[in-house]
Amino acid sequence: MRTSAEYLARLKGMRKNVHIGGEVVERDDPRLVPGTKVISMTFDYVDDPRFKDLLTASSHLTGQTINRFCHIHQSPEDLMKKQELTRLLCQRSGGCIQRCMGVDALNALSVVTFLTDMAHGTEYHQRFLDYLRKYQQNDWVANCAQTDVKGDRSKRPHEQADPDLYLRVIERHQDGIVVRGAKAHNTMAPYADEIIVLPTRFMGEKDKDYAVAFAVPADTEGLHLVCRSTTSRPRKKLKAPANELGVADSFSIFDDVFVPWERVFMCGEYDQAGYLAGLFAAYHRHSYTGCKPATTDVMMGATALVAEYNGIGKAPHVRDKLAEMITVAELVYAAGIAAAVKSQKAPSGTQVPDFVFVNAGRYHAGVNIYHEFETLAEIAGGLPATLPYEEDFLDPAVGPLLHKYIMRNPAVSAEDQHRLFRLISDMIVSAAGGVAQVAGVHGGGSPIMEKIALVLQYDMDAKKRLVKELAGIG
Ligand SMILES: Cc1cc2nc3c(=O)[nH]c(=O)nc-3n(C[C@H](O)[C@H](O)[C@H](O)COP(=O)(O)OP(=O)(O)OC[C@H]3O[C@@H](n4cnc5c(N)ncnc54)[C@H](O)[C@@H]3O)c2cc1C
Repeated sequence: MRTSAEYLARLKGMRKNVHIGGEVVERDDPRLVPGTKVISMTFDYVDDPRFKDLLTASSHLTGQTINRFCHIHQSPEDLMKKQELTRLLCQRSGGCIQRCMGVDALNALSVVTFLTDMAHGTEYHQRFLDYLRKYQQNDWVANCAQTDVKGDRSKRPHEQADPDLYLRVIERHQDGIVVRGAKAHNTMAPYADEIIVLPTRFMGEKDKDYAVAFAVPADTEGLHLVCRSTTSRPRKKLKAPANELGVADSFSIFDDVFVPWERVFMCGEYDQAGYLAGLFAAYHRHSYTGCKPATTDVMMGATALVAEYNGIGKAPHVRDKLAEMITVAELVYAAGIAAAVKSQKAPSGTQVPDFVFVNAGRYHAGVNIYHEFETLAEIAGGLPATLPYEEDFLDPAVGPLLHKYIMRNPAVSAEDQHRLFRLISDMIVSAAGGVAQVAGVHGGGSPIMEKIALVLQYDMDAKKRLVKELAGIG
């Protein structure tokens, strides 16, 4: 397994293809450091006794101990460990741990490459296993680039005015393929080792060239990662762990990128594209049943603490709102556990979480996210929005007065009151807060997508039969 120092050293040696604000930057650019610090946690905690059992697994290929973020789930326990690990690490990072999508993509590919070979007599599964072996040995970190830019949402890939609005194969050669297109919203792509590309939807025969899955090094020739980074407002003296962390994402442009065959895992098998898209979504939504409860943990912890600092910790409406937050966090988490308990083994041997539970859990999280922000804002009062600058708290003239007048609960020091309100301000009145809200709705698939998946996969006929029986209908 790698150390975080080795991970960061590798990033430093990569080709410059990360664009930020009109510049092409190195991967140790200060705007990317808050994100690399988050990923570093997934290496640093491997030897921590609190995390070791969760963060490591035994490779089903080699029997060697590997990072769980490189593991193919072999049992319901594996799925539950990934979920618990995700919740714990997201609590520590105060947000997204960012390494889940790589393992989610690998698991989906392990299933679908096998099924594709069965249906088409292809050799994708062995190819995938060879890639996986390298992935596990190198302890890689990957972004999964699934979401195409998609153009007109009402049109299928081949119907778009510009055929490149979904990523597609434009050339096939003896040694590989050439792809063109763009993928949007790619979390942590600027500090990933690899980009794993998957189709984003069901495909028909005319969409054949769009039914493509592959992996490329994140600095491969022809790939432009146009990035933005989201960090908290920088602090001078009032340092805090959460303030040092952040995330960057990428609008990833594949400007005629060559992919050797050994890295291609689907090429034209349009009948399998939809299942691959849906299966990645299922694994990723299962990850969400770990990360979203962690987001709520932080929101509800802040709500409870600020109520206590404000002297209203025991007020009935505060308890009521905290109870609501608990039900969201724990029901979403319970859906993930249920999805693992009810999981099934695919023909490849990979454990697949239950689709209904992962979609119901992710949906419940997605529709509640703004409500959680509203609750924290309501209980905290207006100060997170109008909190004076840190420099004014340090100013010899007004600083002592600010410390005097920020006081609420006399048992809590002025510095601690100030610290909590600055954290809440970073959480809900900042660029990071805005991104977290939209990420909570759309990341892993918008709530409408979960509803579509639920209706498609739910056995509604069984419910109709039940009612016919009860009604005595023949
Ligand atoms: C912070 C963040 C991080 C993300 N990270 C990643 C990542 O790392 N990798 C990745 O692949 N993706 C990632 N995503 C993408 C995420 O999965 C998508 O945002 C989500 O699937 C919605 O797609 P979209 O943004 O293109 O919105 P759209 O598809 O445009 O959806 C907007 C709305 O349009 C409507 N709509 C869309 N299509 C149709 C249709 N055909 N018919 C009717 N209505 C329709 C729906 O109501 C939907 O809610 C991330 C997103 C966010 C916000």
